[in-house]
Amino acid sequence: FARLRDGLSKSSKKLSEGVASIFARRRLDDETLEELEDLLVSADLGVAAAARTTAALARDRFDKEVSEQEVKEALADVIAASLAPFEKPLVVDRARRPHVTLVAGVNGAGKTTTIGKLAAKFRAEGLSVMLAAGDTFRAAAIEQLQIWGERTGAPVVARAVGADAAGLAFDALKRAQAEGTDVLIIDTAGRLQNRRELMDELAKVVRVLRKLDPDAPHDSLLVLDATVGQNALNQVEVFREVAGVTGLVMTKLDGTAKGGVLVALADKFALPVHFIGVGEGVDDLQPFSARAFARALVG
Ligand code: GDP
Repeated sequence: FARLRDGLSKSSKKLSEGVASIFARRRLDDETLEELEDLLVSADLGVAAAARTTAALARDRFDKEVSEQEVKEALADVIAASLAPFEKPLVVDRARRPHVTLVAGVNGAGKTTTIGKLAAKFRAEGLSVMLAAGDTFRAAAIEQLQIWGERTGAPVVARAVGADAAGLAFDALKRAQAEGTDVLIIDTAGRLQNRRELMDELAKVVRVLRKLDPDAPHDSLLVLDATVGQNALNQVEVFREVAGVTGLVMTKLDGTAKGGVLVALADKFALPVHFIGVGEGVDDLQPFSARAFARALVG
């Protein structure tokens, strides 16, 4: 929890200082409620969650003196309740061999890093892992994945820059099936500039995987960078359409005051949140906990 709390310190500083300045020895009246609602919207929680929070507070405490601590606790409760339905661990079906996880997201969101961290986590659980360098557009992405492969002892299926991503995914799944690998994690390209190409490429990757396993991919994770704030909402819309997203990973929650956007995402899309990233290290990918996140966010 300490790691999470430190990671979210910029987001919690914003909320905590805002709440303190609104509720320094004041009653809960229309004015303070409105100020609180504005604070929550500016902290990226979204209009719906902001309204829900102030309504819950008003119901219990209207026209009473409230302490900063009480407001924070009420806020944490509403946030935790909003997020609780989406707290879903990523479950690897060990019978599949391989369980196929497709990882999508715009360039720079933290896809490759997340794949590396996931590989390390699965390896630590005693699972065999194979990585497929499906972002064939960027030499750096292929190299990064190879470094993670070496670090975690996971074989990496890679080809030269410009190779066909679907062909590579097909070969990787074939090899993982032949070797009885537990988990195959497939990286994908994240060029949002050309939505049609991106769509065609991801659709083709899924199509060829299904030739070998009709249920593949078993997870389709979207990696989102928390620092983009409200833009994350647009990214979910695009990728939900092109990649059939089944769950979210939110990275870079350290170093941003926009962590509240996870609440807005949960409200709008009702997608499971599997992991959050609070740093660049291997241990900085944490399973998502609604309660711990809410507490760390509010400060
Ligand atoms: P990709 O283009 O989506 O594959 O993104 P990368 O995995 O290459 O990540 C882009 C940058 O973000 C790298 O410098 C990562 O180290 C960094 N990064 C990824 N996740 C996190 C995180 O949770 N916190 C921080 N601070 N940096 C991260």
